[in-house]
Amino acid sequence: MDLKKFVRDIPDFPVKGIIFRDVTPLLKSPQAFKFAVDEMARILSDVSFDCIVSPEARGFIFGAALAYKLGKGFVPVRKPGKLPYETVSLEYQLEYGTAQLQIHADAIEPGQKVLIVDDVLATGGTAEAIGKLVQKLGGQVAAMCFLIELTYLNPRERLKGYDVRTVLKY
Ligand code: IMP
Repeated sequence: MDLKKFVRDIPDFPVKGIIFRDVTPLLKSPQAFKFAVDEMARILSDVSFDCIVSPEARGFIFGAALAYKLGKGFVPVRKPGKLPYETVSLEYQLEYGTAQLQIHADAIEPGQKVLIVDDVLATGGTAEAIGKLVQKLGGQVAAMCFLIELTYLNPRERLKGYDVRTVLKY
């Protein structure tokens, strides 16, 4: 199946000069959504891990579907102030300013092997921050998996040392 047919390009969103890859048509198609999650599982078949960690909001959709399919637990990473229990935070650089992500302090056991999942790998800043959060809790990043990789933003440069797997490349 040509999954790129289900990804809509939105020029100048959220700001001028950016092409936003919109996965909502893919999610709406039962065949495309299933194929996308099955492909993620297929390219990860040789990776062993204990749980999946994903950021809000679209990361939850793919991360949770993959966790269900593979019989793994799911751990959410959220923007500040959303998680109810004790959290561990990490601040990271955006193009303009900084952002923060949080994870529950007890979400990962020391030594646990974690798979990080998100919809789009752009600059790699979010994935790098989640990798650091996982390591702060004593977890090990087994691999990172994304439906879409924006290769022209060179995210792998930033994620050197991680096993990065992606289904679609632009
Ligand atoms: P990065 O931190 O620059 O790699 O951006 C990745 C994060 O921003 C992910 O959580 C994505 O969901 C979101 N993101 C960045 N660009 C896009 C896009 O073109 N389409 C959908 N999500 C995007």
